[in-house]
Amino acid sequence: MKFGGTSVGSVESLLNLRDIVNNESKPVVVVVSAMGGFTNQLLAMCEQAQQRDISCLDTLEAARKRHHDAIDGVVLEPMRKQVHETIDRFIDESLKPYYLALATNPYMPVAEIERVCDAIVAHGEILSSAIVTGMFEDGVPHLSLNYMRTCQDNGGRILDWEETERLVKADFAALDEGVHVAQGFISRDKSSGDVTNLGRGGSDYTAAILAALLDAEALEIWTDVDGFMTADPRTHPDATVIPQMTYQQAQEMCDAGAKVIYPPTIAPVAMKHIPVWVKNTFNPAAHGTVIVDG
Ligand code: ASP
Ligand code: MG
Repeated sequence: MKFGGTSVGSVESLLNLRDIVNNESKPVVVVVSAMGGFTNQLLAMCEQAQQRDISCLDTLEAARKRHHDAIDGVVLEPMRKQVHETIDRFIDESLKPYYLALATNPYMPVAEIERVCDAIVAHGEILSSAIVTGMFEDGVPHLSLNYMRTCQDNGGRILDWEETERLVKADFAALDEGVHVAQGFISRDKSSGDVTNLGRGGSDYTAAILAALLDAEALEIWTDVDGFMTADPRTHPDATVIPQMTYQQAQEMCDAGAKVIYPPTIAPVAMKHIPVWVKNTFNPAAHGTVIVDG
C-alpha cells in the first residue's frame, strides 16, 4: 500500500491511513511519500542556501513544527517521545549542517552540490516514515537506503534490479507479522553508496518494485482522487472514474500525462500480473480504478 504526499500530509489524512491499514487482515508493506509539499520545500531550500540565503532555515523550522504537530496528532503515546527526537535529530544533525555547508562553501564542486542535494531531499520520506511507523503498535521500520539500489546508465540513473532484488528479499524476509513501513523514492548508488532517488513522483515506483519482488497479491496506490478519470476533471466536469483498465491502457494514459501515477510504476507489476488498485485515502469506500491484464 503506497500513500502519497497528501495522504501523509495532515493529521486527518494520517488517521485515514491508519484505518485503511488496520482494516487489512493480510500482511502489509506501507510505502510512504514525504508530507505533501515538503519535497518541493527541501529542494527550494537547496536553491536558497546556494544563494547564501539563510532564511531557508526559517522554512526548515516551519517544517519541523509541522512534523511535530503530526506526531502529537497520530503517533501512539509510548512512541511519541522517541519519534519527536528522531525528527529533531535528522533536522539538527543532518539537514541543518547540509544547508549550512551549501550556504558557506562558495567553492563546492557541482558534483558535490548534487550529492548534498540528493542527500537532503531524501529526508522527506525518512521523516514521514518515522511518523507512520509510530502510528502502529506493531510497526516495523525498513530503510529503503538499505535495499533500493540505482546505477548509472548512459548518464542517467536507473534501478539496479539484480542488486535490489537480493537486498529486498533479505530485508523483507519476515513479513507475516506487523505493519512494515518503508520510504518511497529514496535509494543508494550501487557503486558509490551515495544517496540517490528514483525521480520526482518515484514513490509509486518504489511500491511497484517492492510489490513485484515480494510477489504481492496486490499493489494499492492510495492518493487524493477516486482513480483514473475519463478526462481531466478540472476542465471536464462531467469526467467519470474508470473502474477497470488494462496495464497497457494505464501505461498509455500515464505516458500521455495523466498525473495519477508515475509512468515507470506499471511495468514491474504488469510483468508479475499483480493487480494495481488506485484508491482515494479521503474516500476509501469508493471503488477506485483497478488495473489488470487485458
Ligand atoms: N516525495 C517525492 C516527490 O515529491 C516522491 C513522491 O512523492 O513520490 O517527488
Ligand atoms: Mg505521486
